[in-house]
Order: sequence, then C-alpha cells, then structure tokens
Amino acid sequence: MSWQEEIKTAIRSDKELASYLDRETIETSFNTFIPLSFLERIKNSDVLKKQFFPNEKENAFFQSTGLVDPIGDQKHQKTPNLIHRYSSRALFIPTSFCPIHCRYCFRRNELNENFFSLQDFEQTLEYLREHPEIHEIIFTGGDPLILSNERLEYYFQEFSKIESLKYLRIHTRMPIVLPQRLDKEFITIWKNYSQKFSRMVFVLHVNHKEEFSPEVDESLRKFGHFLTQTVLLKEVNDDSSTLCDLFEHIAKLGGNPYYLHHPDKVAGAMHFYLDIEQGRKIYSELRQKLPGWSIPHYVVDIPSGEGKTLAYNSESFKFSGKLMNKEGNLTNYATPSHFLN
Ligand SMILES: *Cc1c(COP(=O)(O)O)cnc(C)c1O
Ligand code: SF4
Repeated sequence: MSWQEEIKTAIRSDKELASYLDRETIETSFNTFIPLSFLERIKNSDVLKKQFFPNEKENAFFQSTGLVDPIGDQKHQKTPNLIHRYSSRALFIPTSFCPIHCRYCFRRNELNENFFSLQDFEQTLEYLREHPEIHEIIFTGGDPLILSNERLEYYFQEFSKIESLKYLRIHTRMPIVLPQRLDKEFITIWKNYSQKFSRMVFVLHVNHKEEFSPEVDESLRKFGHFLTQTVLLKEVNDDSSTLCDLFEHIAKLGGNPYYLHHPDKVAGAMHFYLDIEQGRKIYSELRQKLPGWSIPHYVVDIPSGEGKTLAYNSESFKFSGKLMNKEGNLTNYATPSHFLN
C-alpha cells in the first residue's frame, strides 16, 4: 500500500482499535492514530504497545501535574508556523498532523490534522528575511514528511532563496512508521537541495531497537546519512543496555545518535516520566559501553520556554532541582518525585 493510502485507512480512535483488537475501549483525551501495517508490528512488541496504545494511566490523578505546553512553545511563536527561541535557528511547523500518535508526545495536547496555508508561509518568509541571524530552518510538526514531495520541494525552494539560511533540517518519525515514504523522488529532491545549503540534516525520532524492521533498515540505508533523537521513557528504554542496542543498530545503518531527551512533564504522559538522577546514571553507563561518536547529548527542556540544556552533570548524579538557562541563570525545575515509582 502507498503511504498515502496507509494514512487514509489508519485507525483513528481507540474505539476502532478496541474493536480491531477485540477488547474494551479506553477513553483518554488523546485520540489514537495508527496505520494498519504499523499496527501489525506493534502487536508483537510490548515496548511498541507502551508507546502507541492508549493506557488507563493517562487518566490517573497525577497526570494533572504535567503541563499542556511543557516546553513553552507558545511564548516563542513568531508567525502561525514559526518558533524562534534560539537566535541562530528557528522551528518551522508546516503541519500538526502525524503518521502515528505517540502517547508520550510533548505536543499531544496540540496535534490535529491541520496543514498551514501558503499565506501563513508568506509571513514566515518575511520574518526570516527580517532576521538574518537565523542560519537554520528546522522542519518539525506534526511530522513534516506527511507533506507531499511537491509541497516539501516548494518549501525547500523558497527557503533556499533566503541567503542567510545556511542549514535546513528535518525532524521526523515517518521512516519508522511508513518506511516507503523515503521514496526515490524524495531522495532526489533531498540530494538536489543538499547542494543549495551548506548542509541538510535528517533527524529520525526512534526510541527502541524494536521500532526497526527489515523495511525500515533498507529504506534508511538507501537514504544515506542521518541523525537520531531518542526520548528516555520509563519502562520503554530506561536502561543502558536497551539504549546500547538501539545506538549500535543506528551505527550499523550509518546513522549517529544526536539527542537523548529527558522526558518532558506532559499532562497525560507523566507515567513515562523518570528522575533526572536515574537518567544521569544510565547516561554514565553509556559512556562506558559505547564509543564517543555513538553517544548522543543528554538534554532536558526547561519548562516554560527557557530552552534545552544538558541534563548530565559530571560532578554528581544528584540533582539540585535547578538548571541553567541559556542566559546562564539558574531556574527551577522541580522534579515531581512524589509520584515516581
Ligand atoms: C530544540 C529546539 C531547536 C533546535 O535546537 P538544536 O539544539 O539545534 O537541535 C530549535 N528551536 C527550538 C524552539 C527547540 O526547542
Ligand atoms: S511523531 Fe512526534 S510530534 Fe507526532 S505524536 Fe509522535 S512524538 Fe508527537
């Protein structure tokens, strides 16, 4: 089936999923979205079920301690589809539609099937022209690879006309869910535009080795070099041997781990949350087990839009509850440890 057909025929509610799996419906505030071919893969893996099947825990009382906009995106929104938080780079959100709904998603309270209009895009181009300090445009979402090749090429083309943009980056989960999306046409467009920017960077979101399949591996090998980002998730990948297996597999495919994110405090996804102290221990074990080039940066987003910062501290596993923001000031990051474990 083509990836477009897969999107059209995907499961779109827990009710549909429940009747498919012959079980009771689980009502949550986040709707389910799973393409059928991917459902076949989820069925065989507990760590995939945890990531993509709704869970009663999403409705538990402690979920209210999480945030609806955990990383403060709204504070830095400059046009309907541009977020500018760091002076040198900006996030471009051409859609809030995803090929899968990940239960831990920090945008889980904002996802819908919207595509932004070309009029909004004019505003974004205008903003970029007025801000030549922005050197990188980063496609995120939703999932940017849910756009057609035609639309992506149009965006690449318009961005390539802005001289101050040196880099173009895409963050996507699509190749894991629907590997056929990395089709010949897309690869050709990507290669062509790679010559118009100093660098084009492809970042794959993947959390566990079981998300790969022979088809996924093959399409990534064909695509070429890529980076990865992984979210540390309680009871999915929160130990160093699971992460080692993942990073070794990425190395085998020709990729490099880029970020390991400490989970955000997301309303409805707090059952995936773990302590920074635990994360630091896992990360220090990775340093023993893996070559430096195969170890991602371990980072955490400070809530309320203060930005990403390193989560590791080489002085201590202990966490003071404060993190340095980009101006170098200590800000509070209270760990809701009262409901951990
Ligand atoms: C993460 C992020 C970026 C990209 O940061 P890098 O450290 O370059 O990967 C850009 N803008 C925002 C708002 C972000 O949250
Ligand atoms: S693909 Fe990314 S944006 Fe979409 S639901 Fe998953 S984590 Fe969220």
